[in-house]
Amino acid sequence: SLLLQGKVALISGAASARGIGIATAQLFARHGARVVILDLDESAAAQAAASIGPEHRGYGCNVTDKAACEQAAERAVAEFGQIDILINNAGITQPVKTLEIDAASWDRVLDVNLRGVLYLSQAVIPQMKRQQSGAITCMSSVSAQRGGGILGGPHYSAAKAGVLGLAKAMAREFGPNGIRVNCVTPGLIQTDINAGKIADDKMADIIAGIPLHRMGSADDVAGTYLFLSSGLSSYITGAVIDVNGGMLI
Ligand code: NAD
Repeated sequence: SLLLQGKVALISGAASARGIGIATAQLFARHGARVVILDLDESAAAQAAASIGPEHRGYGCNVTDKAACEQAAERAVAEFGQIDILINNAGITQPVKTLEIDAASWDRVLDVNLRGVLYLSQAVIPQMKRQQSGAITCMSSVSAQRGGGILGGPHYSAAKAGVLGLAKAMAREFGPNGIRVNCVTPGLIQTDINAGKIADDKMADIIAGIPLHRMGSADDVAGTYLFLSSGLSSYITGAVIDVNGGMLI
């Protein structure tokens, strides 16, 4: 059966061809949702949406720009009349060490990964409150839990840990409005964010340490987003779901 029939879903960071966001948009569309892809470039976002089907939309939206987030939510409501689902998926990494982080790189990584979650959530929550229902799912990372990922950098770990706190606070605040807020914490997922950035021998070591003995796929994460966005998770809020092949066992 279709888990998202009649729903409207906004997904940030969903224009990149092999990313978690587009895999999520495709899966949500297969489950009956109308999808709005938000990404930095309007034409890339629109093209990505059109590749799924004519009923979907793509808007240019830099999630660090509060006005742009508000405009995206307004456009979605004007076009579809409702917003049921938000996936705060946009993110960037920067593989540097603590002593190399300067003010600009701290700001950039915190802005996209953490401030962006706040701004886009602020943009859709008034509509979700009017509807007295909504599901927001935020992208964190195993980097938040392990204090360091493979590529992310300490500021990335800090930002993704911040996402967990922000999501739980929003879950507490807006639960009475019928809005659920949850997080996913993926491990190593095969996308362009890490493609070609890990040497083959190092990758073999990493995979040997993962109980399921493989990297995750974008679809592995999309399936978890689907669960958390659908009625299957109707009594789950403030939760954090690991999608890491058992990396932390
Ligand atoms: P990706 O690089 O393919 O996707 C990231 C997308 O975010 C891109 O489309 C990019 O254009 C977009 N984006 C970047 N800055 C933006 C901004 N300011 N406003 C709007 N969009 C912006 O990589 P991915 O692996 O699919 O990453 C998706 C999310 O998953 C990210 O938040 C990432 O941190 C997180 N994550 C990835 C992994 C992994 O191993 N791939 C693991 C844990 C978490």
